[in-house]
Formats: sequence, structure tokens, C-alpha cells
Amino acid sequence: NQVKNIAILGSTGSIGTQTLDVIRWNSNLFRAFMLTAHSNADLLISQAIEFVPEYAIICDQSKYQQVKDSLAHLPIQVMDGHQAIIDLVTHPDIAVVLTAMVGFAGLEPTIAAIKAGKDIALANKETLVVAGDIITTLAKQHGISILPVDSEHSAIFQCLVGEDYQTIEKLIITASGGPFRGRSLDFLANVTREDALKHPNWVMGAKITIDSASLMNKGLEVIEAKWLFDIEADQIEVVVHPQSIVHSLVQFRDGSIKAQLGLPDMKLPIQYALTYPERVTTNFKRFNFMDYPNLTFEKPDTDTFRNLNLAYTALKQGGNMPCIINAANEIAVAGFLNGNIGFLTMSGVIEECMQQINFISTPTLADYLNTDKETRIFAQNYIKQLPSKALQ
Ligand code: NDP
Ligand code: MG
Repeated sequence: NQVKNIAILGSTGSIGTQTLDVIRWNSNLFRAFMLTAHSNADLLISQAIEFVPEYAIICDQSKYQQVKDSLAHLPIQVMDGHQAIIDLVTHPDIAVVLTAMVGFAGLEPTIAAIKAGKDIALANKETLVVAGDIITTLAKQHGISILPVDSEHSAIFQCLVGEDYQTIEKLIITASGGPFRGRSLDFLANVTREDALKHPNWVMGAKITIDSASLMNKGLEVIEAKWLFDIEADQIEVVVHPQSIVHSLVQFRDGSIKAQLGLPDMKLPIQYALTYPERVTTNFKRFNFMDYPNLTFEKPDTDTFRNLNLAYTALKQGGNMPCIINAANEIAVAGFLNGNIGFLTMSGVIEECMQQINFISTPTLADYLNTDKETRIFAQNYIKQLPSKALQ
């Protein structure tokens, strides 16, 4: 039984640190071969001291010397810059690349890894949202697997073990509804960054936490599901389930429905992506029905939370439209986190970009890179010229 070398892109984030927890408990199965961070040098250093990877990469070049000096006594190669990730993720000794960086930045390293024949444990859903056609085509060409880490997609993937994907009638993706479930537009107009960062069931990075509050996360997950399971938009349904116990469901053509359940803990889907098709013993806390006598389900409120329908529209339009909504959303979320726009204005920014950016029906990779850049600039300028009442 050979130890699998794992490259963790974004090891200092929420998914990244939980992946290292999984590796720590399964050191007979896995080795952290490569760790990468954007700018959190202190955490990268302490992770590297514990796990002694072959490579530690820091994107922020101003932190390079600090990381290099702190690890000088260890046999670790320290590199800097985004390009180093793209170059080194192809290393022949890497078996699986776990993509846990946030946003569009995941796209190019994931493409490089697939071209080098690496299996992908995919947390970075933005990669599939932006360029799902290119990614899935490359995955087929290179004979690699894309193993979902996102809890909903892991649930669906687990339900599909041993099933013929042709027999899927419908995927049912559950959503917690976030901290603002049941709230009105008037209420949302005045919510703060701090309100939005309080997710009821999951502790996650800031960007995905805001996406969860605005339902954009669910929209991105619908698009992610389309590509992972080769399914049409109208076969994907979203159901709000505030307890986050049923992680998602699959309905088959005979009407049978399978679901996957468990306490909300990302370590389970992370570990399953790494051990698939096997399951290993864990001491994760077990779910008990008696603690949850009321598992409830309701329709998403798409009038108040407009992003979910914007994502469905983008998926149905296809081409570079999902790339446009992703870039617009990244800028809108950053704008909200920086206090430049209000919560509800985020949907306005996305909608404006969908209308104004050039539509391309069959984009190349260069088109996607260009669309991303163009949309970011447009969204930033759009936010700048908004009257200050948009703050609300
Ligand atoms: P975090 O913000 O907690 O972590 C992001 C990680 O990526 C950090 O290591 C960060 O480095 C690094 N990073 C940030 N920006 C860049 C960049 N431009 N280039 C390279 N690296 C970068 O995010 P999460 O862990 O919450 O989420 C990661 C991904 O996983 C997202 O795509 C998210 O949608 C997805 N996901 C997350 C879930 C969760 O429970 N957290 C659940 C399902 C999916 P640094 O620390 O130095 O800034
Ligand atoms: Mg999810």
C-alpha cells in the first residue's frame, strides 16, 4: 500500500487546514507533498514545519524571504508566485491535487494538473463554473478523475456509486438558506458584513460565507453539478434544508430517491475524495436522529435572493455567461466585504455584467481569461460610479 502524495492548493484556508487534519490522521495513506498559500506566511511556515512537504509555495512575493529563512533548516523547496504553482503541480510524484484556493485563481493550476494526468479533488468550484466544458473535456482526454469535495456534490457522488448516470432523473441539492433565510428585502438592505459572515452551520472562508448568505453559493453549485454529473439545468433542483444534515439527493428514473446524511463536517467529503473508492474508519462525531427530530425542507425564496436564478439563467445561456457571473460575483463580494456596496447591490452588479459584457457562445481558454479580466474591470468601474445610496 503506497502512500499517496497530495498537493494542497490553498493549504492555509478552511478546506486546506481540514485537509491537513485528514492527512494527519491518515499518515499511513497520504503525504502532504506540496503546500501553497496566497499570503499567510506564518501559517504556511508552521504547516511546513509539521508536514515537511517537498514544496512550499507562497504567492505573495514579499513574503518569500520570511518563508525561505524560516524553513532553511528543513529539506523543503520554497518557491514564490502564482506561476510556481502552475509549474510544480505537474510534478511526477504527485498523485492527487486538492484544489482549495478560492476563486478564479484555481483555473490555470487545475488545467495544468489535469494535463499532467493528476486526479483532482475539487473544492474550488469556481473552476468548473468558469470553464466546465474545457475542464471536463480535458479530464476525459487525460483519463483523470474529478472527485468532488463540495459536500453536496460529494453526497450526490456517494449516491451514484454503483449506479448508471443515464438513469438519473433529477439531482436535488440542499441549501442551508444561510443566516438570512426568511428575511425580507427591507431587512437585507441594511445587513452588515458581520451579520453576513455568521453562517449557522459551517465555518468557511469569507468569500464562500458571503456566497452562502446571498444564495450565490447554491447557484455556483448548480453549475458545478451540471459539469460533474453531465446533467441539464432543468434536472437540478434546489431545496432549502436549514439543518444541513441531508447533504443532497439523487432521484432515479424509477422514482427512487437516494440521499446522503451526516453532521455538517467538511472533513468527511474531503477524506472521501482522497480515499475513494474506499472508506476508512474515522472518529468523526456521529449523527443521531434523536438530536434532530425535525428535519425540514422548503422552497428557496428566489424573489428575495436573486442570485440563484441569475446562475440558472447563466447556465442555460452557456458560453462565457457563467464565467461572467463568477467574475462579477467575486468583485461584488469583495465590494461588500470592503464596505463599498450593500448586500442587495451584489445582485445588481452581477446582472449589469450579464447584460453588458460581450457574450461568446463557444469560448476558448483565452476567451475565458479575457472575459474574466474584462468583467472584473467593468464591475469595479460600475461599483465606483454607483450613487452612495447603493451602500444600503
Ligand atoms: P479560504 O478563504 O478559507 O482559503 C482560501 C485559500 O486559498 C487560502 O489558502 C488562501 O491563502 C488561498 N488563496 C486565496 N487567494 C488566492 C489566490 N489568488 N491565489 C492562490 N491562492 C489563493 O477559502 P475556503 O477554504 O473556504 O474555500 C476554498 C475553496 O473551496 C473555494 O472555492 C470554496 O468555494 C470551496 N469550498 C469551501 C467550503 C468550505 O467549507 N470552506 C465548502 C465547499 C467548497 P491565504 O490563506 O494565504 O490567503
Ligand atoms: Mg457546498
